[in-house]
Amino acid sequence: MVYNYTEEAVRRILPDVLKEYTRNNPGVCTCARCQEDILALSLNQLPPHYVATDEGTIFTKVSFDQIGGKAQVVAAITNAIKRVVANPRHKNPISGSAEYME
Ligand SMILES: [Zn+2]
Repeated sequence: MVYNYTEEAVRRILPDVLKEYTRNNPGVCTCARCQEDILALSLNQLPPHYVATDEGTIFTKVSFDQIGGKAQVVAAITNAIKRVVANPRHKNPISGSAEYME
């Protein structure tokens, strides 16, 4: 199967970057809906890096060197968080809740 290595890298560190961000900016929504938005916005800023793998291959370790360095990925995620925070897709902060408005 073909796999976007960039996506794997972003998914891998998104929780840490988000946790760090919310520590400095309390009240940021971290619901699943906002995290999906952050993931999508991050990936739109980063070049994809496709790799072909055997089915079922799981990356145990992501090499950020292959996709331009970790700093670039962190910067893209941070930028995405700011955009989602400034323009959330649902009405009220619903941190920790699975309910959201479309
Ligand atoms: Zn949210």
